[in-house]
Amino acid sequence: MAGQSETAPRNRQWLLARRPVGMVSESDFELAEQPVPGIGPGEVLGRVRYVSFEPAMRGWMDDRESYVAPVELGAPMRAPGLAEVVASNDPAYAVGDLVFGMLSWSEYVTGHWSSEVAGRGYRQVPGDVPVEMLLGPLGSTGMTAYVGMLDIGRPQPGQTVVVSGAAGATGSVAAQIARIKGCRVVGIAGGAEKCRWLLDEARLDEVIDYKNSDVRSRLREACPDGVDVYFENVGGTTLEAVLDNLAIGARIALCGLISGYNDAQASPGPRNLFQLIVRRASIRGLLLWDFLDRVPEAGADLRRWVEAGEIAYRVDMQEGFENIPRTFLRLFSGANEGKQLLRL
Ligand code: NAP
Repeated sequence: MAGQSETAPRNRQWLLARRPVGMVSESDFELAEQPVPGIGPGEVLGRVRYVSFEPAMRGWMDDRESYVAPVELGAPMRAPGLAEVVASNDPAYAVGDLVFGMLSWSEYVTGHWSSEVAGRGYRQVPGDVPVEMLLGPLGSTGMTAYVGMLDIGRPQPGQTVVVSGAAGATGSVAAQIARIKGCRVVGIAGGAEKCRWLLDEARLDEVIDYKNSDVRSRLREACPDGVDVYFENVGGTTLEAVLDNLAIGARIALCGLISGYNDAQASPGPRNLFQLIVRRASIRGLLLWDFLDRVPEAGADLRRWVEAGEIAYRVDMQEGFENIPRTFLRLFSGANEGKQLLRL
């Protein structure tokens, strides 16, 4: 009897301990441990197998208006991931099912998954797709790349397409879709190794290493007729450099602005928005939620392209529950090589 509480399964969680000011750090999270929760009527208990990391999660840590509510202080950090059902009071989920959805940095999660269908919902994972592919190019980053490039960017064969954050999970898929559509594709990424991958594996036409070259002058060389489509993941001075080199009628898919996510003070800018007028260009913010009707077609196309080797991808798989916060930080140093995941 004495050992019963020690051997009963425990649920470790990473809680949001404080709201970061500036760059997020491991000390913004705190480890907690409780018994694994029981489940009530209609609830499901899942054991978290994989955590997926998105730069946008940095914004969920701030107490400000966004497209989702901020994570409460003291609550487990919200995160997408993949869980295996270990107990279920919901006939829609059987023990052993693998389910993708919005989970948290916990070993076990519970929820009324059938009724929580807002946004991305909770969906059973097909057994015939490797997890790396499913959470990588076929996951929400790949889907976002697909609708952002095709529905907002609308690239035409022969046009010049620029993608920032080009070696990342979203950017690499966006850039390769533009290549598949017959465009000349220029990727902007940090470091020689990522640029090499973009040229050799993702088969882009040109790359700009923003850490080791002047983006503005390299863009002029690489895009002498201007940029027809820009898929933006970064913002800041990169966005300003592209705005100054747009073609007439350019389209900008505004997917992310990661260079500013850890700024303690929002910086003013872009300072040259006037270029949208000069070039009669358009810019549109992108959230996958507005394109859910496109998901089946996107999933089918992406799977076909990946399986045919038309889209190369990389997954950066870290290991171990204890490493979750430091894995999240990899997104902001650029340490991640491809889609950042962690296996529990
Ligand atoms: P990711 O690109 O795989 O990883 C993040 C990358 O951002 C890093 O590897 C790093 O690459 C780059 N980065 C980090 N700090 C930077 C800085 N200060 N300046 C320039 N680059 C920086 O991550 P992801 O999940 O695919 O997300 C990429 C972007 O898409 C983010 O802005 C994210 O918010 C956005 N996104 C938006 C949606 C949506 O629905 N709107 C959905 C998914 C993702 P380098 O090594 O090249 O610097």
